[in-house]
This record gives sequence, C-alpha cells and structure tokens, in this order.
Amino acid sequence: MAELEVLTDAAVLIDGERIAAVGRYTDLQPGTGNVERGVEVVEVAGVVYPGFIDCHTHAVFGAPRLDDHERRALGMDYKTIAAAGGGILESVRDVRARSDAELAALTRARLAVLLAHGATTIEVKSGYGLDCETELRQLRVIARLAGAQPASLVPTFLGAHEVPPEFRDRRADYVRLVCEEMIPAVTRERLAVACDVFCEPGVFSVAEARTVLAAARRHGLALKLHADELDGSGGAELAVEVGALSADHLAGVSPAGIRALAASETVAVLLPATLVFLGGRSQAPARGLLDAGAALALATDLNPGSSPTLSLPLVMALAVSQLGLRHAEAVNAVTVNAAAALGIAADRGQLAPGFRADLVVCDVADWREVAYWMGGNAVTAVWTGGSACPLPIGSVSLGPHVQA
Ligand SMILES: [Zn+2]
Repeated sequence: MAELEVLTDAAVLIDGERIAAVGRYTDLQPGTGNVERGVEVVEVAGVVYPGFIDCHTHAVFGAPRLDDHERRALGMDYKTIAAAGGGILESVRDVRARSDAELAALTRARLAVLLAHGATTIEVKSGYGLDCETELRQLRVIARLAGAQPASLVPTFLGAHEVPPEFRDRRADYVRLVCEEMIPAVTRERLAVACDVFCEPGVFSVAEARTVLAAARRHGLALKLHADELDGSGGAELAVEVGALSADHLAGVSPAGIRALAASETVAVLLPATLVFLGGRSQAPARGLLDAGAALALATDLNPGSSPTLSLPLVMALAVSQLGLRHAEAVNAVTVNAAAALGIAADRGQLAPGFRADLVVCDVADWREVAYWMGGNAVTAVWTGGSACPLPIGSVSLGPHVQA
C-alpha cells in the first residue's frame, strides 16, 4: 500500500466513459501513435488522481445534531446523550417526519460538496428509517439521485442500525422484521447492493448481526459491517467469517480480529474523522492492521451525529497525522482499496486502461499535498465517466431551514 506509480508530464486518453490509455504526454498527443488527430485536448496544471471513493456515508438525513455536539463538549457520554433524546434515534424521528423531496434536496447538496472534494463514487446507507417504509424511502432517495448528479452512488441497506423505540422490549421481533420484510422488500425493488449492520455491544450482538447478514446473503446482497466501533466484541471476526466486503470503524478491534482481517479479503475501513469529532477516543490501530497485512480503506462516515465531514482529503490528512499512514497509503485507501471495500475494484479506483474515467485534479506541485492541506480543498477539477463536472462555487446549504 505504500507504493504509488507517479508519472510526470503525463496524459490520460479517455474514450467515452472509460480510460483508453495512460502514459507520457509526448506519446499520447493527437496525431501520434494510435491517437486520432481530432481528439479534444484538455490541459490541466497540477496532479491528476483516480477519482476518490467514499466507501462509507450516511448522507440521507435531515437536521444536524447540534445538541449532541454540545452535550459531548460538556462531557456527557453516548448513553447519557441517548437518554436525553439524542443519538441515532433523534435522526430517526427527524427523517420519518421529512418528505422525500426535502431529503433528496438535502442529500443532493451534500453529494455536491463531497464531489467538490474529489469523491466521484459515494456509498450511501439507509438506517434512519428503522421501519420498512422509511428505510425504502431513504433508499429511493438514493436511487433518484443516482442518475441526477455526477457522482456514482452505491446504496447500502442499514435497517439494523439501531433498535427503534417501538421494538425496545422485543428486539428479536425487530431482527425478524429486518430479515423477513425489509430485506425482501429492498431486494424486490433493487434498492441496495449491500447490507450493513451496526454490530456493537448494546446495539446489535454478533449473533443478531450474523442472522441479518445471513438473510441478506440469501437475497443476493453483498455484506458490510460496522464492527468494533467502540468496544471490541468480535465484529471483525464476524465480518471475515461471513465474507463481508468490509469491516468498518475497528477502534476496538482485538488482536484476533486483526489477524482474521489480515488473512482475508475483507477490507478494514477506518473513519478517523469520526473519532476526532467524538473527541477523547483513541483511533483504530491502523499500523497494526497494515503491518499484519490487512487491506485498509478510509471514508468520511458522513452522518449527523459523529461525523459531519464532507471532505475525503481532510480524512486523508487525519490518516497521516492521527493513524500514522504514509501519504501513498492514504491515497490508495481512498482509491483502489475503497473500490475493493465496495466490490468494484475491477471497474474504478485506478488510472489504467479499461477503468472508468473518474479523475480528480489538484493544482499542487507535489501529489502528497492532497493529504496535507488539512481542512482546505486542493481539488480544482473533477471528471466522472469521462465528463467534466460542474463544481459548486462558494458555500452550499447543508442542513434544513426548518425543523421537521
Ligand atoms: Zn457508519
């Protein structure tokens, strides 16, 4: 992961939505070799990267959770905040009360900002509905936006994000609802390509997560897992056992979990912005995972409670300074490895012939700068599927103007 091929005076030849060739500019000039004379030439200054891939977001939500933010600053822990009416269930009440049109408009604005920071492929989860209709509504919002803005969206069903209040005393019934009603409904409408579960003590146990993932697999969904986010409970081991594409979070992963990930194809997805935003928590053992031989990806974890973060370059800078990644490892973690975490590594994540022509340009002198300007945005141009994307100019409204 510490290796990157860097070409100077380079050119990328694009044919339709795909990359046709990558090489030296002198070899790819129109009228030379196999390149036709009439080909359109776009000159860019700086560095061209493969389009970044944000492999873990919860972008479909309503209001920010500002009270949670302030309560945490005052020293309240997760359970106290939930008891005070905050946490995931606050976002669930909010999303249930909002219209599809409003959720779509809010999500569209956030996708535009993610894209402006270089994210050309974005995974988006449901999980703030926690009833069949609202989970489907969230996923339909994602489907509607998939063709209506330039980034590619990868939808994931996360009905097992939390137990909703109406099932608090009968959680087994909720797991059954997820398996027997939600997953079949989601797959019937082809609204998701993967299923995720929040596997954590006090949320869903390893046994409950295994049940949900088994149902998802029977319905043809790929598997992902929120694993060992706060306390280690065998989440990473479960992700490997079921052949999940990724195990995400991992701040509490055990040595056995690290060994299991290292011996598997399951990608370890780390979310350093989340732990910085929550404050006072230690980061996932990134070096331990890398040194053991695990594949590592990074994502924003964009969500209203623990990571209102819209910048993969910020996440890359945090990965260098907080996780001990080298710049090359950070770049690989948001391109080729993030593609693997979504099961699309044969299609995108590299500047190579045959790959989808998703490109990010940063007007910088050294390619490492993308993971250096912490909180700034060095991205100056983005292409998806071979087309230049209009980028938002100035600030974008990210939250609703009225409370639900
Ligand atoms: Zn998450």
